Amino acid sequence: MRWGDSMGLLRVGRVGVAVAAAGAVLVGCMPWQGEEPQDKKDAGVAAAAKASAAAAGQAALLKTRLATAAKVHANELGQIPVLMYHRVVDKPATQDDRTPQQFRTELERLAREDYVPITAAEYVTGRIDIPAGRHPVVLTFDDSSPSQFDLDGMGAPKPQTAVAILQEVAQRHPGFRPVATFYVTRDMFGKTTPEEQAQMLMWLRDKGFDIGNHTRDHQSLRGKPEKQVSSEVAAGHQLITKLLNTNPVTLALPYGNQPTKKEWGRKGAAGDVSYDYGGVFLAGYTPAMSPFNKKFDPDGIPRIRSMDKTGDCVKFCSTAWLDWLKANGDERYTSDGDAKTVAFPKFKTPFVVKRYTDRVLAY
Ligand SMILES: [Zn+2]
Repeated sequence: MRWGDSMGLLRVGRVGVAVAAAGAVLVGCMPWQGEEPQDKKDAGVAAAAKASAAAAGQAALLKTRLATAAKVHANELGQIPVLMYHRVVDKPATQDDRTPQQFRTELERLAREDYVPITAAEYVTGRIDIPAGRHPVVLTFDDSSPSQFDLDGMGAPKPQTAVAILQEVAQRHPGFRPVATFYVTRDMFGKTTPEEQAQMLMWLRDKGFDIGNHTRDHQSLRGKPEKQVSSEVAAGHQLITKLLNTNPVTLALPYGNQPTKKEWGRKGAAGDVSYDYGGVFLAGYTPAMSPFNKKFDPDGIPRIRSMDKTGDCVKFCSTAWLDWLKANGDERYTSDGDAKTVAFPKFKTPFVVKRYTDRVLAY
């Protein structure tokens, strides 16, 4: 073996922890000596050493990933709060309304407790890209009220709108992504012309917000024939695609009411419009399941109404559930920081959705 080639091999071998492995390959190749041309043999040895170094590198990487997942108690089969907001107004008139201050306080709490917002589209498609040890939260806004979002003459969100408040909180808490999902109807933030409506949706999309279908006319779909269900959903779908040229990925059922067959909301067609959503959201009353967990049901994903612990909300609204998730941290979704893996304690393995098994990192 020539000195130069040997040096080359050593250089390959010096990658990471692979020196010993490369040495083993060298020994293993000794019996070939003299039987093959030297060049070809050296190339083979170098390739084998490189493959071995790569394998050792992979093993080291896997070890690091497992250690990180275990250290942060990653649980990517756990529960995720999907919070539901309606109007954000100074004088609440319904049990769904929140004041700007209440909304700000809830966001501050989420940031303090290591939640990171993701969109409904990211959630249902399993694109949950947040740092290790953090928990995803999905912020959803129904009915496209002007109190959620409006722009000034320069294209900045007007103060005290939900979008402005979310951006303020995100600025104070680096890592708290200012993203949310807006379930829009024909009300379209109070804008009446197609140009103004398009302006609103384009701004949201460009800033990483997500637009979901809430049907155009907000009729309850309970008990309606399939044809009518499809036409109500398709009308909402088309309302968005005509303005934005981007397909919505999820639907929120008006009043949370499911149609006779729950899958009618997720998949269907009317006229030349067809839809096939990644998820359909309800209006109550529990945290939602990880999209990687077999218990995840894309036809009926629960949401949590934003409200303090009063009346019906003593147990089933946001303050109560955030308290519960804090007290039951092992039930909550915690990220391992690697969006390509689905990490969890090994004993939970039977619950992984089959199509995600190649992403499993069980520790
Ligand atoms: Zn609604």
